[in-house]
Amino acid sequence: MKIAGFYSGKKGKKRPNRRPLLLAVLLLASFAAGMLTHRAISRPPQPDAGLSYIEDIPVYTDFLPEGSRARPGEKREIKYLVIHETDNFSAGATAAAHNSFIHQNADAQENIVSWHYTVDDHEIYHHLPDDETAYHAGDQMKRNGGNKNGVGIEMCVNEDGNYEQTLINTEKLCARLLLEYGLGPKALRKHEDFSGKVCPARLIGDGRWEEFCTAVEQRYVELKAAR
Ligand SMILES: [Zn+2]
Repeated sequence: MKIAGFYSGKKGKKRPNRRPLLLAVLLLASFAAGMLTHRAISRPPQPDAGLSYIEDIPVYTDFLPEGSRARPGEKREIKYLVIHETDNFSAGATAAAHNSFIHQNADAQENIVSWHYTVDDHEIYHHLPDDETAYHAGDQMKRNGGNKNGVGIEMCVNEDGNYEQTLINTEKLCARLLLEYGLGPKALRKHEDFSGKVCPARLIGDGRWEEFCTAVEQRYVELKAAR
């Protein structure tokens, strides 16, 4: 490190004594800067992916109001995608219907629920920024838990919907999010992994969870190769 001209003039005499002090100050400053840089690198900001389409599937963003009870607004590190099913088999229980539901109940006094995406057979609704905690995994805000670190994804099971297409749309959303957030297919979780609730119930009941994970992984690998 050469600092030309700094010691010119009358203070030249003190040069031998002050140099160690200066070096110490510079070292300290660069160490501090390094720490800042290190922190920035090891915990990168993870803004919302801001998706509006995934292939031909529209993604409608309609975030819960900031400050509502269902939106704690706590930023966190994304570690998992947590898969759910709505368990609502009624006709018309689509992604749009669940978007209305989650908004209507955003300030409910009890049984607060929130999650990030709802997927049906033709569209996706996005209810919360991906980098915020939510209440879907039934494990409070446990460290490394589903609420704390998961992106909650609800799949519709409405009787007038095409469940197979919903699965495909969810696979595509998952593959994309895994890529967006630098996660691998191993970040896929089911709600059951966090609270023991049998969810996504139909997928588990039909013995298709592994098949789903394999399909997501395949799409993830293809997507990654195409980038
Ligand atoms: Zn669930």
